[in-house]
Amino acid sequence: MEITTAHKIIFDVAAFVFGGCIGSFLNVCVYRIPLNRSIVHPGSHCSACGAPIPWYNNLPIISWWVLGGRAACCGTKIDARYWVVEAGMALLYLAIWMKYGSTDIVAAFIYAMAAACLIDLDHYIIPDRFSLGGCVVGFIVCAIHPKLMEQTTALHGFSWSLASAILGALTLLGVAWLGTLLFKKEAMGMGDVKLLAAMCSFLGATSITWILPLSSLVGSVLGIALIFWQRGAWGTRIPYGPFLGLAAVLWLFGGDQVTYSYWDHVWHAWSTTNPMVPIVPANVANPGQ
Ligand SMILES: [Zn+2]
Repeated sequence: MEITTAHKIIFDVAAFVFGGCIGSFLNVCVYRIPLNRSIVHPGSHCSACGAPIPWYNNLPIISWWVLGGRAACCGTKIDARYWVVEAGMALLYLAIWMKYGSTDIVAAFIYAMAAACLIDLDHYIIPDRFSLGGCVVGFIVCAIHPKLMEQTTALHGFSWSLASAILGALTLLGVAWLGTLLFKKEAMGMGDVKLLAAMCSFLGATSITWILPLSSLVGSVLGIALIFWQRGAWGTRIPYGPFLGLAAVLWLFGGDQVTYSYWDHVWHAWSTTNPMVPIVPANVANPGQ
């Protein structure tokens, strides 16, 4: 069947709507998981008065606008963040769909990380079921799809995923140790270490050289800005998880290419200046000519 522009638009809209629904569910998960409540039972209800929310008042993105940011039952103000998460996840799903087409693994990874980061933002904790659980899922997924680690066999996919996770954890542990040495206080939690391990189990070890510098840079800039805006004291606690998450998402949307071509450049520059490395131009591969 020929895919027309109309088809494409319908698929894009469907992807956006589906993403909004996931965002809505994500809000429920982020609210309930740290409270150890079930994420499916009971159904949606008002967190202020407990009244059940009918489906037509629970439409992702739309309902918040229609109800003017207030609960229909009791008029309690609903934080705009719920809307931002729904709209953001809808756009993200559309972006995943447009770039990757097949969306299952990438989308599952992104939404699990998004939930972890939002919980970190609210409670300064990253539940182990996301970080350590994410690692285990990463190892299994890479055994099933070794291509994710640029490998061909299940054993190699699994091993590379495991090695990447360990390397990610060790790198951040090193940074945390340095930070403690420099600032004489704990700069990072073990939750962040485990979260980066989970990210690396999916994205590979090279992603560390993108995620770590970018998340530290954005985190520092925002941290300093917050100190000035909110007259917060030095050492105002800012969770690091969301910055790791942001960098990981950007890795999936171009950061990987930037990083790989950077390392190609470095390798090329080093190998052409270092006489110990034999230079074999591609066009003299055939010695018979
Ligand atoms: Zn209510």
